[in-house]
Amino acid sequence: MNIAQYAVFGHPINHSKSPLIHKAFARQTGQNIDYTAQDVPAEQFDTALENFIKQGGKGLNCTVPLKELAFQRADKLTARAHLAKAVNTLIVNDDGSISGDNTDGIGLVTDLMDNHQIELQGRNILILGAGGASRGIIAPLLEQKPARLHIANRTVSKAEQLANEFSSISPTTGSGFKELAGLQFDLIINATSASLSNQLPPLPEHLLSAEGSCYDLAYANTDTAFVSWGKQQSAKKSIDGLGMLVEQAAEAFFLWRQQRPETRTVIQQLDAERKNV
Ligand code: NDP
Repeated sequence: MNIAQYAVFGHPINHSKSPLIHKAFARQTGQNIDYTAQDVPAEQFDTALENFIKQGGKGLNCTVPLKELAFQRADKLTARAHLAKAVNTLIVNDDGSISGDNTDGIGLVTDLMDNHQIELQGRNILILGAGGASRGIIAPLLEQKPARLHIANRTVSKAEQLANEFSSISPTTGSGFKELAGLQFDLIINATSASLSNQLPPLPEHLLSAEGSCYDLAYANTDTAFVSWGKQQSAKKSIDGLGMLVEQAAEAFFLWRQQRPETRTVIQQLDAERKNV
């Protein structure tokens, strides 16, 4: 029997944890699948996807810089992928058509609420950054009915534009970082890529409310600059995006295999491994 083929495409891809995560899910649920990581620059995406499908590919994860291309290539889109204008999961259907979904937002919400018991309903939430990741998490966060969602970005017009787009779902505001002075939030989510170069957006004092929490979408083997900032602000919880990575993968695995894997042991395993590096 042929083994069902799955993969993650991205560039660069050599540090991807996705093969490890999906192989753990497959073992756990008794599914006979193969999952590989393939280095695919944007200009090779169409050809690589075609070859992957010819070789029996059933599903694909797409990461930087391919999420917008995957969005354009999908024949059908879920509502959340449509809103995100980015796709991280492709499903190759039996009739050859390709469905696109975005599981990043639900991955974040599941990690926040189920794994860390961080309430979202009625809370004041701040998102730092207005790039692709921000766009993917806004609608799933709004679904949880926060009291307020504000987006702050270095390029102010991008924050304002995103806020405008999502205001039809629920009031959402946008600004630069300077305008954050005097404001307070219960949850601050860092969706900038600043952590990847160990930098921090310029944040005013007292931005985090007492008992507030911080969440960095980026993850690393040691505290990111933003996780450290959260700890300095006495955040109740200050955590990075490792759990989101595993949860978005679990949602993709469910879409492909109709089996929901258990995520906690996989998060614990990855967390233990990174502490030993
Ligand atoms: P993009 O390149 O699309 O956006 C980057 C954003 O970061 C922009 O808003 C940019 O501002 C801002 N930015 C970059 N550098 C700085 C800086 N030094 N100071 C302030 N703002 C800065 O990236 P993505 O949205 O795709 O990714 C953002 C982060 O989310 C990355 O760290 C990525 O690894 C992480 N991520 C994690 C996931 C997970 O599963 N845990 C899933 C998806 C993403 P400007 O617009 O002004 O340029």
